[in-house]
Amino acid sequence: MKLILIIEDEQHVAAFISKGLKEEGYDVLVAYDGQTGMALLVQNQVDLIILDIILPGMNGLEICQKIRSEGHRDIPVLMLTALGTTDNVVKGLDMGADDYLTKPFKFKELLARIRALLRRKNLSEVTKEVLSIADLQLNRNSKTAIRGGNEIQLTATEYRLLEYFMRNQKRVLSRIDLLENVWDINFDLGTNVVDVYVNYLRNKIDKSFEPKLIHTVIGMGYVMKT
Ligand code: CA
Repeated sequence: MKLILIIEDEQHVAAFISKGLKEEGYDVLVAYDGQTGMALLVQNQVDLIILDIILPGMNGLEICQKIRSEGHRDIPVLMLTALGTTDNVVKGLDMGADDYLTKPFKFKELLARIRALLRRKNLSEVTKEVLSIADLQLNRNSKTAIRGGNEIQLTATEYRLLEYFMRNQKRVLSRIDLLENVWDINFDLGTNVVDVYVNYLRNKIDKSFEPKLIHTVIGMGYVMKT
């Protein structure tokens, strides 16, 4: 399920968008100011941000710039602007927003924009040639990993596991999830195999390096993050 973060101080507008999106099957987080929004962004695997420009404290333009400068480059940002504020729109797009919508808008229009942005994001994730986190890079064409300038040899299974981790950074992945997506099986082989391979991978990409990238989440699985 896709997670959408709404940063909008007008509570009735936020509630209206949130309710509509939930009815469409999206997960939704709401923040009434930029600081709360940034905190939610760091704690969750957000797929798209709906960002109002006029907010108390940090405005939408500043937030957008902060989102981009703090490494969340791939999350689409849809800006909400008031009528007659074309200057803001231009600035917003300069700051890294992907699209904008002028208030008042039809909910259908908002939905269409969201779908288009998520489609574009999916496409770029699927086709992106080099995935990276910290000083680790994975080249999907040559199927090689490099960390701290050292080339790391991976077996086919280790490669698929690493690729899946890198595509799902900051998301806690259960052993079942890994088993289904990396080993491509949907019956329970026993999840031991996952732990064994995560260990192999850790020895190769984490053991001699800092910061550690693969973390155990007790009782839940694993997460890749810095
Ligand atoms: Ca506002």
